[in-house]
Amino acid sequence: MKLIIGSHVSYTKDEGLLGSVKEALSYGENTFMFYTGAPQNTFRSPINKEKTEEAKKIMKKENIDIKDVIIHAPYIINLATANEEKFNFAVNFLKQEVKRAEQLSINKIVLHPGSHVGIGEEKGLENIIKGLNLVLTEKEGPIICLETMAGKGTELGTTFKQLNSIIKNVKNNNRVMVCLDTCHLNDAGYDVKKFDNLLEEFDKIVGLDKIACIHINDSKNEIAAHKDRHENIGIGTIGFDNLIKIIYHEKLKEIPKILETPYISIDGGKDRTYPPYKFEIEMIKDKKYNEHLLEEIRNYYK
Ligand code: FE
Ligand code: FE
Ligand code: ZN
Repeated sequence: MKLIIGSHVSYTKDEGLLGSVKEALSYGENTFMFYTGAPQNTFRSPINKEKTEEAKKIMKKENIDIKDVIIHAPYIINLATANEEKFNFAVNFLKQEVKRAEQLSINKIVLHPGSHVGIGEEKGLENIIKGLNLVLTEKEGPIICLETMAGKGTELGTTFKQLNSIIKNVKNNNRVMVCLDTCHLNDAGYDVKKFDNLLEEFDKIVGLDKIACIHINDSKNEIAAHKDRHENIGIGTIGFDNLIKIIYHEKLKEIPKILETPYISIDGGKDRTYPPYKFEIEMIKDKKYNEHLLEEIRNYYK
């Protein structure tokens, strides 16, 4: 079966998309996701056209379909906020992000819907809808993929019902889809281990045709913990076999899957950590759990 799999990769000011593609290829991936700058801030550098063209050439040669490549919007922008200044900033940033996506020929932007920070679910959702309508003024263009959230603090987008109420109230909602995150779903209280039931419920409330991408992460916490702490594949509470079922699910074969699992430290210290993706992807392709995953990663980078 066709498998579209990748991970979060870096995107630097100097190398841009070219560096991201090279990193993805070094892990054996055929798609990838990146932030157009630091995830925790909104400074963004202009896009280098030559490097972008070179990146696209490599993608063509390596059979990476650019429509499977994903941008993640920075998580500090909050469309749900009641603070007008912050709201306007979020809207303007997202407009710019859509333009950057267009310049890079990328079609999908993952967005954390937002946190209501005390004004309540209903008002928060209204703000998100208002914000998306201000960003998505054109009928055609890149798609905003609302991520399913763990329910940390006052996060919205933690239930299928909330996601649906956003989607159905945005005017150009052909440009709004969903990014499922397995760790977040678990932490929000959905039973990822009974994935067929989960998909059925999602289909009834939102519709399977609205799934744009899937973040594949194990979770450090039990179901409904509302924590959002990702774990390496097979080591968390969801487990390898359950994640494999999702990754190879017949109904999701056209959907890009992205790993956002934690980097590994060699000596237990947090000062220098290394990406696990090459090893996790190998394990996923083999469909066989590697008990010595962390040990092998540490040995490789030592
Ligand atoms: Fe995210
Ligand atoms: Fe995620
Ligand atoms: Zn997360």
